[in-house]
Amino acid sequence: MKHYDKVKEIIAGKAELCVVTKRHSVEEIMPFYEAGERIFGENHVQDLTAKARVMPDDIQWQMIGHLQTNKVRQLAPYAARIQSLDSLKLAKEINKECARINKVMPCFAEFHLALEDENKTGLAAAEAVEFIRACREYPYVKIEGIMAMGPHTEDEAEIRRIFEQGHELFLSLQKEFGADQIRYLSMGMSDDYPIAVDCGSNMVRIGTYLFTEDGE
Ligand SMILES: *Cc1c(COP(=O)(O)O)cnc(C)c1O
Repeated sequence: MKHYDKVKEIIAGKAELCVVTKRHSVEEIMPFYEAGERIFGENHVQDLTAKARVMPDDIQWQMIGHLQTNKVRQLAPYAARIQSLDSLKLAKEINKECARINKVMPCFAEFHLALEDENKTGLAAAEAVEFIRACREYPYVKIEGIMAMGPHTEDEAEIRRIFEQGHELFLSLQKEFGADQIRYLSMGMSDDYPIAVDCGSNMVRIGTYLFTEDGE
């Protein structure tokens, strides 16, 4: 796990690692568990619940993909956090389903910061305060941070510009709601995590890079 060691070195003391296990088998994932990782991310409800059922109980499964309201009931018992909260309709459904099982669900509000992502999922930075304020009316939804993706480009300056926007949004929300409430800035994937960490991310979500070795 050469890339794993490299990632751990780069994020040391700065960011937590969410190992993105999508498309990988339990057998492939277990070495990361054995190395001490407990935060694993999946982007489909079916895959998350299937893995959660057979893997150790102390894994904190993160839902990181777009979540449909009709899948919330199935997901709620298994997710330790929903990083992809992108609408009030979804917050309302999470609140309803988590009330049924008496579980307060930690969530990140997901933002689209890159312009090219305009028609993708995620909230706009301009609606952040209003959105989080509205979510706080739901007792079973606990917003504890934000999630954002970098732009699909190899232009480092552009990636940095977007991640800096994410960090500014994070700081402004901490100012508004308290740094003890808004604790996480989830930014950075295989191709851009060193830049994200440099820009203040404290949780990176990495899949591809961790599951390949040099030369693959
Ligand atoms: C797949 C995925 C990742 C990880 O992407 P890699 O490029 O494989 O590291 C991170 N975040 C989200 C939301 C994803 O869907």
